[in-house]
Amino acid sequence: MGFKLFNTLTRTAQDFVPLDPAGRRVGLYCCGPTVHDFAHIGNFRTFVFADLVRRYLEFRGYAVTHVMNITDVEDKIIRRVREQQTTLRAFTGKYEAEFLRDLDELRCVRPHHTPRATEYIAEMIDLIARLLARGIAYQAADGSIYFSIDKYRGCGCCYGQLVKLNFDAMRVGERVASDEYAKESLADFALWKARVPEDGDVFWPSPWGEGRPGWHIECSAMSMKILGPSFDLHLGGEDLMFPHHEDEIAQSEGAGVQAPGQRFVKYWMHGAHLLVEGKKMSKSLGNFFTLRDLLAKGFTGREIRFVLLSGHYREQFNFTLESLAGARTALARLDECVAKLRELAGATPGTADAALLGQITAVLDDDLNVSGAWGLVFDWIRDTNRVLAAGTATATQAANALATWTALDTVLGLGGKSDAEAPPEIVALLEARQTARKAKDFARADALRGELKTHGWVIEDTPKGPRLKRSA
Ligand code: AMP
Ligand code: ZN
Repeated sequence: MGFKLFNTLTRTAQDFVPLDPAGRRVGLYCCGPTVHDFAHIGNFRTFVFADLVRRYLEFRGYAVTHVMNITDVEDKIIRRVREQQTTLRAFTGKYEAEFLRDLDELRCVRPHHTPRATEYIAEMIDLIARLLARGIAYQAADGSIYFSIDKYRGCGCCYGQLVKLNFDAMRVGERVASDEYAKESLADFALWKARVPEDGDVFWPSPWGEGRPGWHIECSAMSMKILGPSFDLHLGGEDLMFPHHEDEIAQSEGAGVQAPGQRFVKYWMHGAHLLVEGKKMSKSLGNFFTLRDLLAKGFTGREIRFVLLSGHYREQFNFTLESLAGARTALARLDECVAKLRELAGATPGTADAALLGQITAVLDDDLNVSGAWGLVFDWIRDTNRVLAAGTATATQAANALATWTALDTVLGLGGKSDAEAPPEIVALLEARQTARKAKDFARADALRGELKTHGWVIEDTPKGPRLKRSA
């Protein structure tokens, strides 16, 4: 059996078959943060979900290229730049750096590419020019360029692929310039916004005058530039399905850059929201925690990751501080078991338990049934503890159990408590190097070893796997 995932596009669970004829390379894009503030842990539920998808695909042997954009120009950002009398780069740079640090703290593997929207303006202009040339976009009296939903539908294209839309009840043909417009409105959306005085210094030249891109075109331009006009997987939180992702499809396919018969994206996956007392965790409701709020309360990124990964990605769940306390207890059981195994195994080499890995693969193949995987992991801890308590386990058995856990943890990404000695970004580099080695990409593995060295860490390959050590 292979990996099956729920595709929002077809509303069915489908076998995952990469576009790559060799069945090996996979392109994965996840809409990244808008860097106008610290991200909250609701946002991070989506990014941890993307990290799980990436890790699982790699565990399944695929060579993944993971892209996550940084939205560094948008209405809210411009408003704050103006209020704080700063520059766009100074303002967004701070939140981008904090975001990436948070991602490391949550033990997410860094995406291979984190493109900033402001560095892809030329690609956006090119895409808009194509849409204009095909008659699907038009310039309004204020100089802004809009996408025409009517024209797009008139070409036989379908607007409303990810969600069913009632065109009669919607205000088709109206225009919306805001990046944050209401989901109910089915209006023509801005591709290029003509410069207005409130934009201050935030504008770029274009064939249609000075201005800046709309939010949706950013993701179309960056994803297709890095992954090609057709790629495998596009992820995001469920609130992005409409209009953001619908508009991405319309722009990208409307530009006609795909090979005949090819779609912009083959599989769309959407993560459900993290709730607080039944309501979406969000800045506007004020019911949010940032990662630093929780770290200040004494919780760790590892505990928060565990909670964010505890429910199925398509099910909403309520976040509580009690769930974090529960994570602490669960992780303590795991850590105690692993510590005992380490003690008993010593330097004995081990082999992972293929049967258990097979069982876990079977549940995760079922649209990432992570609850099923946790069930198997905690049954395994219980059984292992029993054997350890009986005092009958051999060093080889312990080494095998450790090898099993190491393999599983490439997917779960919890790491060990002792990994805390090395900061998460260093652990992430080590993991990337292991993945490269597994894929026999030795050039990349060596480059990553070199990168670790520049950060002052060396890898010691021991019979029990690689260890990180501070270089002398
Ligand atoms: P933003 O920075 O607002 O563009 O959001 C970044 C990502 O976080 C998007 O994929 C959103 O769908 C996602 N997101 C926002 N709020 C939540 C939430 N409460 N639970 C899960 N994901 C969320
Ligand atoms: Zn996006």
